Amino acid sequence: DTLILYCRGGFEKECAAEICATAVRLGAPGYARAAADSAYVSFHLHDPATLPRLLERLRWRELVFARQLIFAAPQVTGLPAGDRIGPLLAVAAALGGPFSEVWLETADTNEAKELSTFLKKFDKPFRLALHGAGKLGDGPALPRLHAFFIDSATAYLGYSLPDQASPWPMGIPRLRMPRAAPSRSTLKLEEAFLEFVGGPQAAERLRAGQTAVDLGAAPGGWTWQLVQRQIHVTAVDNGPMDPALMASGLVEHLRADGFRFRPQRPVDWLVCDMVEQPARIAALVADWGAGRLCREAMFNLKLPMKKRYEEVERCRALIEQRLAGVGIEARLRFKQLYHDREEVTGHLRVLGPR
Ligand code: SAM
Repeated sequence: DTLILYCRGGFEKECAAEICATAVRLGAPGYARAAADSAYVSFHLHDPATLPRLLERLRWRELVFARQLIFAAPQVTGLPAGDRIGPLLAVAAALGGPFSEVWLETADTNEAKELSTFLKKFDKPFRLALHGAGKLGDGPALPRLHAFFIDSATAYLGYSLPDQASPWPMGIPRLRMPRAAPSRSTLKLEEAFLEFVGGPQAAERLRAGQTAVDLGAAPGGWTWQLVQRQIHVTAVDNGPMDPALMASGLVEHLRADGFRFRPQRPVDWLVCDMVEQPARIAALVADWGAGRLCREAMFNLKLPMKKRYEEVERCRALIEQRLAGVGIEARLRFKQLYHDREEVTGHLRVLGPR
């Protein structure tokens, strides 16, 4: 009857508010526990009988602040240093299985990272024990087992469902910073493409010869991701663009105001990383969508210090209402990506007139 959600440290309140509101909407209410800066939230159902409903209806991808979603047994405490495996195997037996694999994890905090040596040592014997107990099987459709350690004597054991969970350990994609990219921001767009466009359709939706506009482009980390894919980019920013990137011949740099600029012809992609009020960015994206000026848009909302969950929902409503008002069908999703800081990434896909 417990859900564990990993999140960015400092965003526990947002993650908790979101899962509580979502669970109520799905008819499986409960309460959340979230210690400040712990980088995870636990959610507990008021009525365990509503778990099947939650399992069936909760969509990990629709959650903005959760990096990972695990259905867990109650916390295991007091694991003896001499035999941690015994009690954990008993919980694994109660969870069912078999599982496709097991991941030993901690929260994404500096304190929790100090457990990494212990986890490395514990991984092999625990894996062997699970194997011996028939808990590890073959097949990508099987749930994945997670052992989430709070400290070396305290852990949650739970599982995630394929298609309803992050495919990365700890919910963190380890992307390598490309040496030629002009800024670290490039990793944000790379992760966003993996998250929102990844899968079989990626090659079709991001391909050579397409056109894009990058608002707030300088020095060019996002433009670089597009140019890597041989996409033609209009880079709008008063600041200077990286000369090596400009030498690709695929970029036109316009020193103009990103809020006023509109393309003469519709483009395939709008990307926007301008630092501005979230509602102003949302209104801009809605305007591009309503005018069918792009097929897809990837944009960042830099969140205020307070009411951050409410702010995302306000921006979501603003875009949805604007598009519905002009009869446009679209998909809109937000996620706080690993490479996002005090911000979330939004993705809009314009499908067509209703
Ligand atoms: N995505 C870029 C990258 O990967 O290198 C970094 C963008 S940086 C976070 C934000 C940029 O937005 C700045 O270069 C700033 O000049 C630009 N900017 C802010 N307001 C703008 C506006 N109204 N019009 C155009 N650019 C703007």
